[in-house]
Amino acid sequence: MRSLLVAAALAAALPLFACSRTVQRGTTAADAVQPRAEEAGAADAWWSHVTALADDSMLGREAGSPQHRKAADYVAAAFRRAGLEPSGGEGYLQPVPLRRRRVVESRSSVMLVRDGRPEPLVLGTDAAINLRSTRAGTVDAPLVFVGSALVAPAAGIDDFEGLDLRGKVAVVMSGTSPRGMDGPALAAARGAGGAALQGSGAVGVIGLYPERSDLPWERYAASRLHPQMRLVHQEPGHGPPTLVAITLSPAQAARLFTGAPESYARLAALADSGAALPRFELPVRVRATAALEEDDALSHNVVGVLPGSDPALRNEFLVLTAHLDHLGTGEPVAGDSIFNGAMDNASGIATLIETAAIVARTTPRPRRSVAFVAVTGEEHGLLGSDAFAERPPIPGPIVADLNTDMYLPINPLRKLLVNGLEESDLADDVRRAAARVGVEVITDPEPERNAFVRSDQFSFIRRGIPALSLKVGFSLGTPEHERVLQWRRERYHGVEDEVTQPVDRQAATEFNRLYAELVEEVANRPTRPSWYPTSQFRPQAEGTR
Ligand SMILES: [Zn+2]
Repeated sequence: MRSLLVAAALAAALPLFACSRTVQRGTTAADAVQPRAEEAGAADAWWSHVTALADDSMLGREAGSPQHRKAADYVAAAFRRAGLEPSGGEGYLQPVPLRRRRVVESRSSVMLVRDGRPEPLVLGTDAAINLRSTRAGTVDAPLVFVGSALVAPAAGIDDFEGLDLRGKVAVVMSGTSPRGMDGPALAAARGAGGAALQGSGAVGVIGLYPERSDLPWERYAASRLHPQMRLVHQEPGHGPPTLVAITLSPAQAARLFTGAPESYARLAALADSGAALPRFELPVRVRATAALEEDDALSHNVVGVLPGSDPALRNEFLVLTAHLDHLGTGEPVAGDSIFNGAMDNASGIATLIETAAIVARTTPRPRRSVAFVAVTGEEHGLLGSDAFAERPPIPGPIVADLNTDMYLPINPLRKLLVNGLEESDLADDVRRAAARVGVEVITDPEPERNAFVRSDQFSFIRRGIPALSLKVGFSLGTPEHERVLQWRRERYHGVEDEVTQPVDRQAATEFNRLYAELVEEVANRPTRPSWYPTSQFRPQAEGTR
């Protein structure tokens, strides 16, 4: 799953979570739940893909790397064994040309200037250059605190109203969510806030990194030198609104507010309570230089098709996606520099492969064609799925996308968490499929995390195609929920997301079976899936078609 930092249009927009700061040690692999004997074969097969793809030799499968290509070849071979037709354009492979940007820290710097006296910040410890929103250059400018940087006219929120930001640097309290604003509305408010910032004449932005987030500051900072990527044909203006974007560590945030109308502690408390934040000029300047370098790389999606059995429906495609890429390597943490991405998302690719094997064996075959797609570049902004959805290398319309990303089979599969359940009549299909295997379908208990727009399904959603994303479910406040929170604290986008962690292989096996049931439901339904009239993701034109 991509971090919300990448997801947001703004420099740093991570949600604040009410998670305990206590770090508990994880259990060991020996504690992992073993599947029942009759399922052991299927569980072994699934696990063998996870271990192959999350092996140290894959060096974290970064998009554009030789190791990602090796992983793509592994998936292509598995698709061939399952009997899928090669449908990527170059055999199973669909080329995805990428442009990469990296920070050059040796030529970059950030300092605060108070009463004419410079206070240097250490990159990587105190601050980081945020690639996503940086155009590169030098700024020397006064700071203006703009609160949460949200714009939501319907809710009466405009954090830019009345502010003159020309030639100034905006300071943003990242990851706040105003009381009563749900996930999609928050995403829209952040997007509109990003656009407002872009049009404000501000020359830079400083995002105050949340004290609590999926990703602790140290882990975020450890990944700051990873390249940022975009599709070659995308404009760089897709994201970067300012010359220099800086993310400031929680430990440094208070410094900005010394002598200001409000202290950082008070603002953080206000943000925690969901209250609106005041906005004001800060008695400090920033002097910063961001130096970047760019190059090109080629990466690949892997596409295999199971042709439909119904002559009338086989030209329609159900697409199943999971991302193959992860974060590559970074600064060593306790001697380990490899981001193996076992759950994020070798687990989803293993499920894609095993689901292909199950569905390909069904007789009769599903009526519609099913495209199994292992996408690249998810961690860098859903790039591979965007390239696929923009120019699908398949000869017919896509009627739906089903996605699995970091679905966390670390708890037993008693509930299936479905993102998008409220949005389209794919909900009926998933309820039928789950009922058949005795699993309860639930909506996301943490809607504020905005998971529906944070992974590859969004590349389809924003083109008007109904989609779902599935995970092993849990209820708030249960030991299962705590296990998920602990997983995020200790392993999410860290070097510890590796094959030594405890995994419930039986849950994964049951998930795969349920997923195959769902594929059959959607591929065999008489009508195409459609958005509910109430869904805000429903294309404007759909009602008039
Ligand atoms: Zn991820």
